[in-house]
Amino acid sequence: MVLVKQVPDPNAVRFDPRAGDIQSGTPQVANEYDLHAMEAAIRIKEQQGDVEIVAVSLGQARETLNRCLAMGADRAIVVEDAALASGDSAVTAKALAAVLRAEGFDLILVGQETSDGGTGSVGPALAALLDVPVVSNVVALEQQDGRLTVQREIEDGRQVIDLAPPAILCALSGLNEPRYPSLKGIMAARRKPTEAKSAADLGLEADAVQSRVSWGALFVEEETAEGIILKDVDADSAVDQLVAFLQERKLV
Ligand SMILES: Cc1cc2nc3c(=O)[nH]c(=O)nc-3n(C[C@H](O)[C@H](O)[C@H](O)COP(=O)(O)OP(=O)(O)OC[C@H]3O[C@@H](n4cnc5c(N)ncnc54)[C@H](O)[C@@H]3O)c2cc1C
Repeated sequence: MVLVKQVPDPNAVRFDPRAGDIQSGTPQVANEYDLHAMEAAIRIKEQQGDVEIVAVSLGQARETLNRCLAMGADRAIVVEDAALASGDSAVTAKALAAVLRAEGFDLILVGQETSDGGTGSVGPALAALLDVPVVSNVVALEQQDGRLTVQREIEDGRQVIDLAPPAILCALSGLNEPRYPSLKGIMAARRKPTEAKSAADLGLEADAVQSRVSWGALFVEEETAEGIILKDVDADSAVDQLVAFLQERKLV
């Protein structure tokens, strides 16, 4: 199971100060780390053969899921429900956990964090809800004889972890180079199913979809750099003061 979130394109995000949000109409893309998670799943399938890859998303994510199908996922599930659309991370994790429980899983691959919400909380929250181990900051992954050897990035180095699935792995970009969908893959994706589910389909009661955290408006901090303005001084004196200022700060 690979969890992929569709996010505003980080290269195109523009802030709308009046709306207190990013500009509407910002192009949407797959969250970068999630594509590394998807690539890791495809490589496992290429090595092992007998593997089904399911791409799962919550929210508006049809384009992203199509991309995953074109990369090599076998099918997709999208949770589309207005009641979950602006849910907090806990609601998101509960809804995704309900999908994973219903589908069953051997391995869950997620991104380390998203480029929009960026809480990095969904992977660990799923681990708690599903009672499986989680490895964060994954930058290398090998599987042999049903076991996984994972390398996680730590300060100044790497840590090697050996584990038996089921587990949740949170991918970083060092893990691999995600492939671009081939034309054959894009054509094949058209025949692969994407199943839409609602909160009711997942058996989520009203209480489970109730956010307890409310996000406020976004704003850009005002720049408060100090400045010195030399007024009513002749040019020679201004130059002397400027040179003294720079020398004092060891800038010349
Ligand atoms: C319109 C809007 C309103 C919001 N309002 C609130 C609010 O009021 N309170 C609040 O707390 N949050 C709010 N959010 C944030 C939103 O709930 C979080 O973005 C979401 O819960 C996931 O957290 P994250 O992006 O920090 O994911 P992270 O924890 O950073 O993601 C880690 C990984 O988990 C997986 N993942 C995360 N989200 C999804 C997903 N949706 N589908 C599939 N996989 C996923 C991906 O693999 C991802 O790389 C809002 C978001 C939107 C778009």
